Amino acid sequence: MLPLKEKDKPIVQKLLSAGCCARCVLRFCCVSVQAAYRRPQHETLKELQAFIRDTENDKPQDSETAVESTEENNKSHDAAVSEPAEDPPSKRAKLEPSAADAPSEEAAAAAAAAAAVKLKDGESSVCVVCLGILQELCDTTQAVKIAEAVKAGKYEFDTLVLSVSLPAQLCVREHSCWLHVKKESREKSVAADKDDVIQVKEAFKWIMQGLVSKELGGVAVVTRSLFEVAVEITHPETDADCHFLASTCPDCFKPTKNKQSVFTRMAVVKALEKVSDAKFLKHYPCPPAQPTSCCSSQDVQCLHVSVFVAGRYNKFCRSLPQTPWLIDGERRMESSVEELIAASILSSFRADGFNFSSSGREDVDVRTLGNGRPFAMELLNPHRSRLSKVEMKQLQETINTSSDKIRVRDLQIVTKEAMSRMKEGEEEKTKSYTALIWTQKPIEKDDITFIDDIKDLTLDQKTPLRVLHRRALAVRQRVIHSMNTRFLDSHHFYLGLKTQAGTYIKEFVHGDFGRTKPNLCQLLKTDTDILELDVESVDVDWPPSIPE
Ligand code: ZN
Repeated sequence: MLPLKEKDKPIVQKLLSAGCCARCVLRFCCVSVQAAYRRPQHETLKELQAFIRDTENDKPQDSETAVESTEENNKSHDAAVSEPAEDPPSKRAKLEPSAADAPSEEAAAAAAAAAAVKLKDGESSVCVVCLGILQELCDTTQAVKIAEAVKAGKYEFDTLVLSVSLPAQLCVREHSCWLHVKKESREKSVAADKDDVIQVKEAFKWIMQGLVSKELGGVAVVTRSLFEVAVEITHPETDADCHFLASTCPDCFKPTKNKQSVFTRMAVVKALEKVSDAKFLKHYPCPPAQPTSCCSSQDVQCLHVSVFVAGRYNKFCRSLPQTPWLIDGERRMESSVEELIAASILSSFRADGFNFSSSGREDVDVRTLGNGRPFAMELLNPHRSRLSKVEMKQLQETINTSSDKIRVRDLQIVTKEAMSRMKEGEEEKTKSYTALIWTQKPIEKDDITFIDDIKDLTLDQKTPLRVLHRRALAVRQRVIHSMNTRFLDSHHFYLGLKTQAGTYIKEFVHGDFGRTKPNLCQLLKTDTDILELDVESVDVDWPPSIPE
């Protein structure tokens, strides 16, 4: 039994005559009972036809009697269509026996109703509003196609969310049909809000969610999930439906990057809100014109939300950049820290790609020793999202045996929110370094010991020449908290430094043509240069350490 009221009758009549499918009729009658959409559409169509036929026969009767007789009518129809042997190959064939079987006094009305849905010989009638989506693209065949795509991706997931992208012109057709119904509503003073009309998207999901779930062995298809299965539906035949809006409402359609067409769903919806009914009706048929083909569904896209992995890395090599080093599109070094770490992680999580970030970065010729530098990776579209602690340990081992240039520790899965811990307050953290210093003037052990007593030395660092191409010119104040020296020979010593994060150590040593003040040259009253630099520790207490 369809949850329709007496006042819906003229609307049903009008929509069927306009070439709406049964499910679209339910939508425009604001039927929000999901089960009504899941029924076979030919059954719904039969019921709708019986429902309006009733109106014509029962004109002299009062509305109460009319509703009762509708109920009886529906029951008999239910009985008729529940016989599987009667299932005909097409909607057209379905209608004929029902009309023929009808009592003689109803025959004329039934014939009229059949004619009303514009079913002609040899022509399947594609719905003028949903363009066949709720007729042809909402069945088990489609559910199987979606399920196959999910299975092929071998994803690991508990639940999934089904999303559907519809052609933008559907909004135009929906609007046209709404205006068509509104005329009727005004005449009969039946008020219905456009917002109460059930969206095609909604009806599609109500029908498909259960079917997809069944094909995937009962997996819950929910409204929010980490795993999204997207169906894209297109209908090139009617793409031009939107075009008149570009001249009526030009400011809604601005070309944007990465978009194939200016006629995005958002832009079309915005334009439809702006355009007056009169103007719309002048440029677009009401009800919409009959299409000749049905919508088609494109490849199903599966997407799992990112997984975040964090840890700390050591770098033992003085010829390894942190990220791939490209100059004019050409690679300068064969590998990089992020690639050496990412390779095994990507294959374990079967991810499509990654974004790497770290707490600061070292130059290509700088080693990172001690406990290492915190890093985090966003894994894009991981097909696997859960690894046990033991598996993470094994993964860490795999990374560490794959190269002697780097080493990772504390490898763990973290949340996106936790990841921001690494970046926050980065400038306030301290870092410790060891630098091998060369002096132009010969030195003795006693010449450098005064450096050990310098505490909290504030530097003014003008953006170094070597990074000027990527950082804005500015003078930044940084603090060297403490230093210590270890004499090596008359031209060399080791300098240990504990500094505020973000201090440019190389520039402090050679002075960068006076751009860093004070600098080591000034302190020692001789030219000095830095031969080697190691990061000894990055004092960020994240990610938490994992006991060996
Ligand atoms: Zn439809």
